[in-house]
Amino acid sequence: MKEQIKKIRKRIEQAALSCGRDPLNVQLVAVSKTVSSKNVKPVIDAGVFIFGENYIQEAMQKIDEIADSRLSWHFIGHLQSNKAKYVVRYFDLIHSVDTLKLAKEINRHAKKLNKVQNILVQVNIAMETTKSGVSTKDTISLIRDISKLENLSVKGLMTMPPFFNQPEKVRPYFKALADLKDQILKESIAHIEMKELSMGMTGDFEVAIEEGATLVRIGTAIFGDRS
Ligand SMILES: *Cc1c(COP(=O)(O)O)cnc(C)c1O
Repeated sequence: MKEQIKKIRKRIEQAALSCGRDPLNVQLVAVSKTVSSKNVKPVIDAGVFIFGENYIQEAMQKIDEIADSRLSWHFIGHLQSNKAKYVVRYFDLIHSVDTLKLAKEINRHAKKLNKVQNILVQVNIAMETTKSGVSTKDTISLIRDISKLENLSVKGLMTMPPFFNQPEKVRPYFKALADLKDQILKESIAHIEMKELSMGMTGDFEVAIEEGATLVRIGTAIFGDRS
């Protein structure tokens, strides 16, 4: 596993350097959905400390089993408002906030725990009917509304673009998310940071980094196929 992680880190580094970015500004999120605690451990031993999970029930069990305070857990899956309570308790960053209703629920539970919850707003950049995320045109108004919720801190944007076998075909979607981030920055909305861009997975993370990704979510390249 150490060798495998080293290779992925090298690819991240090369992609960043190839476009004049500092590799330290790209963080690896190891996507451990469907992977057992036992199989997550070697990845921790290889020096990975950020993990992404999609399913709350599975994640809570795993996080409790692994119980390693060095780790940062990110929630990257679709989230229903009635699960907000658990997500706030277990996760440092929620990548998938896409409605005001969900944001309000997260805010309410964060307040109870006296926590400021870091979140990203998920954008459905290609307007696919099968995917979650707010539409590009509604993103700014959603962020304005979220900015009024005191126990939430927006750190940036996330997207799941359409799947293509050729990563170059995904580039326009990554670029569109980066452009949207710049547009939001120009609005200078109070309490809103736009530092993070969560985009890029096993098949296309290098292109995502070239377009500005700061968080790449990689599952298959680390853990193998999820059958
Ligand atoms: C599963 C998943 C990933 C990881 O995908 P791979 O192609 O296995 O790297 C990344 N992001 C999200 C939101 C996912 O659900």
